[in-house]
Amino acid sequence: MQTTTADRKPTPHQSAGSSLLQDALAQVRAAGKRLGISPGMQQLLETPEREFAVALPIEMDDGRLEVFHGYRVQHSRLRGPAKGGFRYHPNVDLDEVRGLASLMTWKCALLDLPYGGAKGGVTVDPTKLSRRELIELTRTYSAALIPVIGPHVDIPAPDVNTNDQTMGWFLDEYERQVGKFDPAIVTGKPIALGGSEGRGESTGRGVAHVARQAMERLGIPVEGASIVVQGYGKVGSDTVRFLKDFGVKIIAISDVSGGLYNPEGLDIDRIDAHVASHPKRLLEGYPGEDARTISNAEILTLACDVLIPAALEGQITADNAADIQAKLIVEGANGPTTGEADAILAERGIKVVPDILANAGGVVVSYFEWLQGLQGERWTLEDVRQRLDNRMRTAVGQVFERAESEGVTLREAAFLIAVERVVVAAKLRGYASAE
Ligand code: NAD
Repeated sequence: MQTTTADRKPTPHQSAGSSLLQDALAQVRAAGKRLGISPGMQQLLETPEREFAVALPIEMDDGRLEVFHGYRVQHSRLRGPAKGGFRYHPNVDLDEVRGLASLMTWKCALLDLPYGGAKGGVTVDPTKLSRRELIELTRTYSAALIPVIGPHVDIPAPDVNTNDQTMGWFLDEYERQVGKFDPAIVTGKPIALGGSEGRGESTGRGVAHVARQAMERLGIPVEGASIVVQGYGKVGSDTVRFLKDFGVKIIAISDVSGGLYNPEGLDIDRIDAHVASHPKRLLEGYPGEDARTISNAEILTLACDVLIPAALEGQITADNAADIQAKLIVEGANGPTTGEADAILAERGIKVVPDILANAGGVVVSYFEWLQGLQGERWTLEDVRQRLDNRMRTAVGQVFERAESEGVTLREAAFLIAVERVVVAAKLRGYASAE
């Protein structure tokens, strides 16, 4: 089944997904107003280009048939093929995917990648599926999307609860059905199947480098800076690993099972050894002499230099924004700060490096992986890291300078740059070229 924007009905509830969508729309509207773009162009920027909803029938291990719901939204392809990950999570709904797809459009434009934006997801708790069921689900989702994806159409990648192995299954199904090898159809795949060196670490590396540059620009000494990271998954743990090299002090981290806190700094190597030995790779049960446990709500309001939300959307809200004690927030996750919270933080003088800048390292190296796939090349880890660092540094400079010159927040500046670039592409394609 495919839905078009004309079929859309307002969602009856205000889920985290719909609030993420509304916040993304509000940013695009504000940027459009400031840039003086026409109502028609504004509508073009706000309306997803194509939306797909697919039924995914899976035979479960006990013989039952279960039908899962999958989505793919291609928000924009004005600057190039749509690009964005897909996630497996019980909260996935069309509004969430729409909001996340829109963020990808602005993220790719901000980093000046030749891509539009997309996102996908399946409403499922993957921890409840066996390995065979998960492979079946991924193959069925891949097969369902074949008519609407491709290396020059829409290129998926991993996101929450999906990883390089998921991309390997996805790629295999695509190649089997299409009948040819095409590694550029998906990024974030295993290196043995054409993945890139440095892709796995790229989002976290980017977050860590952006955090350091933001601290330097804001006059926060990096050496010894106290850092709190909510969400110790792929992004959070890599961010911590790279930040440690800069001499910062990681004072608290958390995952879905809760958090650990030590104002003198956590022993990350010891914690990593615990996580590696935990059957579900969680912080839960960490032996407590050198850290006390802390809830996921408490962790956000700890006194610290930098707070890095790296779990899910909608974590910093109107309810807790007034209690945040960090000097700087660097958004590792997509959409962790609601629009209302953003306004409160701005009022309080707390700087927020927005998701579309802070966590863009993943899509930057996805772009490198795509290029390598199209050209049959292999780049070295050093090469990938250097190119990533250069791209991130350029984007950080552009956002800080725009914020300074226009007297706006970092998020507003990032959206101004991104929206401007998409509008240029739209005009050059002949949409309202005379305006
Ligand atoms: P992940 O599944 O590897 O990690 C998510 C982490 O958050 C896990 O540690 C989980 O236990 C924790 N978590 C879940 N619910 C929580 C809660 N209520 N409170 C605290 N922690 C909670 O996912 P990821 O790939 O690290 O993605 C994290 C965020 O980063 C998402 O918003 C994702 O969209 C964004 N992101 C990911 C990438 C990427 O390359 N993986 C790129 C850009 C943005």
